[in-house]
Amino acid sequence: MSPRIITVANQKGGVGKTTTAINLATSLAAIGEKVLVVDLDPQGNASTGLGIDRQERLVSSYDVLTGEATLADAAMPTAVPGLSLVPSTLDLLGIEMEIAAAPDRVQRLRKALRDNTRPSPYTYVLVDCPPSLNLLTLNAMAAADSVLVPLQCEFFALEGLSQLLATVEQVRGSINPDLEIQGIVMTMYDGRNNLANQVVEDVRDHMGDKVYDTVIPRNVRVSEAPSYGKPVILYDLNCTGSQAYLQLASEVIRRERHLRAA
Ligand code: ADP
Ligand code: MG
Repeated sequence: MSPRIITVANQKGGVGKTTTAINLATSLAAIGEKVLVVDLDPQGNASTGLGIDRQERLVSSYDVLTGEATLADAAMPTAVPGLSLVPSTLDLLGIEMEIAAAPDRVQRLRKALRDNTRPSPYTYVLVDCPPSLNLLTLNAMAAADSVLVPLQCEFFALEGLSQLLATVEQVRGSINPDLEIQGIVMTMYDGRNNLANQVVEDVRDHMGDKVYDTVIPRNVRVSEAPSYGKPVILYDLNCTGSQAYLQLASEVIRRERHLRAA
């Protein structure tokens, strides 16, 4: 069976994309899935957060996009059992220029992830996108079965969402007609804050059941974990952040089953 490919995207920075990619991937691995994270952000925060130092990133997502390496060459194990990583390096900053003239420039990741010549070792692939709707994010959307959108619980949460959804439509209308919205996850929720409650309500009003029941709380353990090179699930399993990401994983699996069946 081919893996389910989920792209974590939002052109805003700091909304919880990387945190969600790392911790959802770890949660999926913890419940027995075989997971690959593809770090598609030149900043490489997902690679760092999964404990892979820069000097260890010998083959990267850049090499996969240029066609110099296969996915199997680039994927490396992490400290999390069942979770592998295609790391990113700053080389990715130059990718647009590098492949701009190639007719298949938007389909590079898709070709690498959907190479049907050998069985995939993964059941889930999560792609962590940069904070932009650039060629990297388009590659991630072209490759994916679905898009997962983290939205921060702040006043401007919905701003920019329509642009993101328009990009999804554009990709559906061209290279990837089967692309779905996996869901929208509200992040960094602070229940003591009335505004946060209002924002969650607003987003649910606008987006209905696209929004997951699970809301990710603002939790200091979540923000501390990357500095130890660990997903929060390994850093502090019992904190509210870990428990929320485990709950999100079961929602994601339920939805993927539904999408696959549809
Ligand atoms: P993005 O990838 O969208 O730029 P990040 O996942 O890097 O966003 O998150 C931005 C910052 O917010 C990081 O410092 C991260 O540690 C912090 N953060 C993310 N989610 C939470 C959370 N649930 N609780 C506390 N801090 C969080
Ligand atoms: Mg990020």
